[in-house]
Amino acid sequence: MRRITVLGATGSIGDSTLDVVRRHPDRYAVHALTAHRQLDKLAERCIEFRPARAVVATAEAAATLRTRLAAAGLATEVLHGEAALAQVAADADADTVMAAIVGAAGLRPTLAAACAGKRVLLANKEALVMSGAIFMDAVREHGATLLPIDSEHNAIFQCLPADDPRYRAGVARVVLTASGGPFRTRDPATLHDISPDEACAHPNWVMGRKISVDSATMMNKGLEVIEAHWLFGAPVDRIQVLIHPQSIVHSMVAYADGTVLAQLGNPDMRTPIAYGLAYPERIDAGVSPLDLAAAGALSFEAPDLQRFPCLGLAFDALREGGVAPAVLNAANEVAVDGFLRGVIRFTDIAGIVARVLDSGPREAADTLDTVLAADAAARQSAAALIGAGASH
Ligand code: NAD
Ligand code: MG
Repeated sequence: MRRITVLGATGSIGDSTLDVVRRHPDRYAVHALTAHRQLDKLAERCIEFRPARAVVATAEAAATLRTRLAAAGLATEVLHGEAALAQVAADADADTVMAAIVGAAGLRPTLAAACAGKRVLLANKEALVMSGAIFMDAVREHGATLLPIDSEHNAIFQCLPADDPRYRAGVARVVLTASGGPFRTRDPATLHDISPDEACAHPNWVMGRKISVDSATMMNKGLEVIEAHWLFGAPVDRIQVLIHPQSIVHSMVAYADGTVLAQLGNPDMRTPIAYGLAYPERIDAGVSPLDLAAAGALSFEAPDLQRFPCLGLAFDALREGGVAPAVLNAANEVAVDGFLRGVIRFTDIAGIVARVLDSGPREAADTLDTVLAADAAARQSAAALIGAGASH
């Protein structure tokens, strides 16, 4: 029986994870669930999965949840705050941690799980983008098992040799596929009028709002390029992005002999989640079988960096190295939040990220404090640009 902690249990990945867990009560039990604001949903999930611990953001929220769970006859211990997230991520009673908090907030708890030697199912790509070297060192040093949940990285992981899921001589390149999001073919002249709801209406995947906007700008693919670099040790010029609007081929690995291995499936995050949970076994994920005859044509095209400047910015940040990817990520989080709040336009996001990246700190990312300081400085710069309306 595996005991699982789900960080970010009320989100889109949290939902999919608990759906797979629900299908296999003989294999999985829930140790802890965490959420930021959605108390009702967390309470429901606790009542269904009966975790030993639950974590919310504030003392007030914890008191409310405690009362509700006690009334339902549960003995769940309710904690609150950032330190409690890291604490449950490292709890000795759990062996597996799903890291599905969105954004930089996920870094410390995900790192805590790695340092505790857990099987870490990594959905929170920001942890690797911000502090890839530190994170991968922690995984090695503490004997954690890192399984990528991001569908592209999960696909690449499945297509690399099982005995050594790292980039090596026989691998020519890793190819990340991207749907191109909702604006792949839209007239660029009309992009400045995009509303948050339009940007979040992804053609193939249902996801949280932040990652949905990132998919529309293709910053998501940029973050994934950085993620792939750290996960697989792939040099930046061996990472290729290919637009594939049908989202059936989830990514590929090209080998020196001309072989290309791809992983295919319906676009449903329960597939990579089930793979991560059961690895190296395979279990039912509740995903409908892939019907290629019904899917029809699969198409591919090179991404247009003029249309998607954020993708180019992410490659720049990875080439620059050091804290640049953390700066890129932080500026993007602030810009996307500004867009979702209606304060800036969709087309301002790339400009804000570019300006913060240009003027941002340039140190090596060798300690967590350096990374977090760069993250904070970039957030301030981005917020100042938004506040000043400088991007308009
Ligand atoms: P979401 O917005 O649906 O859910 C986010 C979860 O994180 C929620 O449970 C929320 O309560 C929690 N959370 C938010 N802010 C927090 C904070 N400050 N402190 C603690 N908890 C906080 O997001 P999602 O779509 O489920 O994505 C989660 C992560 O997985 C992201 O890093 C995303 O990039 C990655 N990911 C998601 C998908 C997908 O299909 N949704 C695919 C690949 C990767
Ligand atoms: Mg992805």
